Amino acid sequence: MKSFDAQTAYRYMENLAKDIGNRESGTDSERRAAAQIQAWFEEFGLSSIRMEEFEVQTSRILKEEAALSDGTKLECAAVGNSLSTPPEGVEGEVIMLESTSPEALETIEDKIAALNVVLYEKDFHKAIESKPLALIYPSQTPLAPTIYRSVRSEWTKKQNIPAVSMAHDDVLSVLKTGKKLRIVTEVEQIAARSQNVTGDVPGTLEGEDLLVGGHYDTVRTVVGAHDNAAGTAVVLELARVLSHEKLNRTLRFAAFGSEELGLRGSFNYAETSNHVENLRFYLNLDVHGILLGTLNAMVLGPEDLKSLLRFTAKELGIPLKITSELGRGGSDHMPLAFYGVPSISLSRTGGAAQIMHTELEDLRWCGSDAFALAGKISQTFLERLAKAAELPFEKEIPSEIAKALEKRFADSGIRRKPHD
Ligand SMILES: [Zn+2]
Repeated sequence: MKSFDAQTAYRYMENLAKDIGNRESGTDSERRAAAQIQAWFEEFGLSSIRMEEFEVQTSRILKEEAALSDGTKLECAAVGNSLSTPPEGVEGEVIMLESTSPEALETIEDKIAALNVVLYEKDFHKAIESKPLALIYPSQTPLAPTIYRSVRSEWTKKQNIPAVSMAHDDVLSVLKTGKKLRIVTEVEQIAARSQNVTGDVPGTLEGEDLLVGGHYDTVRTVVGAHDNAAGTAVVLELARVLSHEKLNRTLRFAAFGSEELGLRGSFNYAETSNHVENLRFYLNLDVHGILLGTLNAMVLGPEDLKSLLRFTAKELGIPLKITSELGRGGSDHMPLAFYGVPSISLSRTGGAAQIMHTELEDLRWCGSDAFALAGKISQTFLERLAKAAELPFEKEIPSEIAKALEKRFADSGIRRKPHD
């Protein structure tokens, strides 16, 4: 039996983040990464290897400028799928929006609103109806650079507004000096192709498949080392070491595209009924490789699944923080759980996670040692499930978790598509 090798995993990450580099959702570079992953799956000898394409709505940023009224230029990044400003831009006072109460929203008319509040679909539209000139999404971390982000394309069909993201410190200084800000953006919305890459290690039992996956795409410009060349690297190394095992249950491997555009690849996968019907479990790997970090797991499944994970961590002596709270972020385990597949998302968080989606998110924070524990627990857990006489948990999502998922996706305007 082969064992997960942390250095091999590191090399997969290096190949994706350094040799290929940026893998923005729906671009040729994302496609190149998919082709490389497919080649690795073939090299490992996986069966039923497939490249599943789907369409995404995204945008090209042609202009993004911000300057104070005294001419001082500030860095900014146009938000993906946002509206272009008029050619001369918009200029106004910047005001912080800390809540979406009617009183707060009244204050942003004809101003540029710096968001200190998370806007889901309804509040996004409420904010636009309050007639601000533009929105600013500030980074939450002091000293960190601008974060690249986009809004869901579906939201912008109803109404749209110019929006940029800016570094925490720049937004702070604009708010403190009270100087007017001018923003000029040009954003072209486009339809593009993205793809999931999948492959199997077949087992003898039918209808009890297990899936392990992670997303390989990035936001624009950044090379996405820990988010998520690293998680993809864990998936690849697991595929390599498990590819010739004799298994009771089929082990499927997936590299999801366009996670950064709103979990598009995993939704596409979960919406396909014959993918989900025979699936009993999904292990997601998102954000890994951070040397100074700690392992965390989000379990969206029954208590028995959580107990088994806790037991495995204790057995191996691996410190693991386990939660079933959705938190603020999202990843590919959520669509699978939304469609009824018990899921675990394993991640390695640390200070470096705070510069995610910025140009600083490269290999400097990463090391091969960071893969050892994630690899060990993933391999042990998957082998145990794939070789067990019976699976020790039901295919069910506890009602509290199901409710939280319903709310999260309803807030984002996402409805479940009926499986036929
Ligand atoms: Zn990610």
